[in-house]
Amino acid sequence: MPDSIFADKEVRFSRADGRTLTLPWPDPFYPDIAAVLSKVKPLAYTYLPPMTPRPFADHADFFGLEWGLGGEDCLFFSLDRKVLKRALALHDDASTDSEAALQALLGYPACCVDFHSRHADPLARRDLIGRIFEGTKPSFLMNTVLNTTGRSERLEVFRGNIKKLHVLPWHPCSADCGPSKTAAARIWRTMRTLHPGLAARMKDALAKPVLYYNDRECAFLDGNPYSRILYDDMILEESAKRLLRDGDALALGKDEIVVSAGGRRLGTIACRDPLLIYFQTAVD
Ligand SMILES: [Zn+2]
Repeated sequence: MPDSIFADKEVRFSRADGRTLTLPWPDPFYPDIAAVLSKVKPLAYTYLPPMTPRPFADHADFFGLEWGLGGEDCLFFSLDRKVLKRALALHDDASTDSEAALQALLGYPACCVDFHSRHADPLARRDLIGRIFEGTKPSFLMNTVLNTTGRSERLEVFRGNIKKLHVLPWHPCSADCGPSKTAAARIWRTMRTLHPGLAARMKDALAKPVLYYNDRECAFLDGNPYSRILYDDMILEESAKRLLRDGDALALGKDEIVVSAGGRRLGTIACRDPLLIYFQTAVD
């Protein structure tokens, strides 16, 4: 069942020496762990919400990662203890130079950092996904639509109320960003090694047409033209879900999506500049 990737509540990893680790699923750490293990990122960090268990010690031990807390809830991890120590020192020093040095350790491509610095205002980011993907047919490796960090409440993400699933742990500057494509291919090789079965299901889940209509709402569809809506526990207005469940064709307007079934118009979803992005199975 293609949408079962969100039905599972945990995923079990096994190592060659017989050790196993069971992670809650979807795991918000996983793309960054794979990025660090594949040496795409020397360092990664995540915020931990207060009042929740901190399971990262198990992750670190199993995957061979060094980790430490910056402040109360910023968790850094790396394969290299020296990089980690430097990151924690830079985090404690709030100067602009330290911020830039810390940023450099995170391994983001310069083109993507530049792109995001020009679109840093959260209010101006409403159409970030549109700026990146409009008019393209990217590989599923570039499907960062569900990487909602920065757009969603952290606690909701950690509770699993907001689904996160992606390979590349940053939004690229364009669907054709060379450094991001190279990085995504390396992370993907690591994910396939860490858990081949999970990787196959992630590919199946991410290589879909995505109807994106704002920074909090989207729908993954099956088939082209679409036959059904996937993962319908995502954040969508109930009326929109109902329409998409009943429909089999979409027409995108400037301020609305028209949903029809069997050639008959069923209704509309109001939204500004909707997008339909066709993520492909190809790895390029
Ligand atoms: Zn880029």
